[in-house]
Amino acid sequence: MYINIHTHQQVYDASIELVNLDINSADKPNHYSYGLHPWFIKKEDYKEQLSLIELKVNEKRCLAVGECGLDKLSPINFELQQIVFIEQIKIANQVNKPLIIHCVKAFNELINCLNLNENKVPVIIHGFNNNENIANVLLNYGCYFSFGKALLGYESNAAKAIKNIGRKNFFLETDDADISIKYIYKKAAELFGIDEEILKQQLQLNFETIFKHKK
Ligand SMILES: [Zn+2]
Repeated sequence: MYINIHTHQQVYDASIELVNLDINSADKPNHYSYGLHPWFIKKEDYKEQLSLIELKVNEKRCLAVGECGLDKLSPINFELQQIVFIEQIKIANQVNKPLIIHCVKAFNELINCLNLNENKVPVIIHGFNNNENIANVLLNYGCYFSFGKALLGYESNAAKAIKNIGRKNFFLETDDADISIKYIYKKAAELFGIDEEILKQQLQLNFETIFKHKK
């Protein structure tokens, strides 16, 4: 079975597609997450948005909080980003659901926020395509990694990282790319030099470990 850990659209080409869902969406896919992204924080209504998230993450098919996180390229004030991220760390810990993280050029601040708020839930860094030093910092913290279309790039950071982080610590995703998760699986199996069936079993195990009974 295929598992797509982060996408923006349900396309039914995986058994589990964790859709990053708009908080006001009336259409509910089979599995989804709610979060306030660091590019879309608005001073006027972020408190209201966070209250909505806090309420709706209790829904059974909402498996995670996110994507949320920190982004130094975002025009949104960085202090405000941290305030909003910390609130989402708290929400995730209240409901005991994993965090799906968007992080750009702010990995030290990310780990600080998690540590200072005594985060206990699994942390998945989505769309990982960073260098080995950053991978090591995140691995030391105990993060999980999710790889997407960057894996397809020749000798990309993602392609190098996936081989070093170990098979128990990763997931695969399509994010907003118009591509089938099956291609990402194929490439990942190739990079590991293993059979795709083995990869599928490993990813199913990783999923069950993190999401436990919350299937
Ligand atoms: Zn995304």
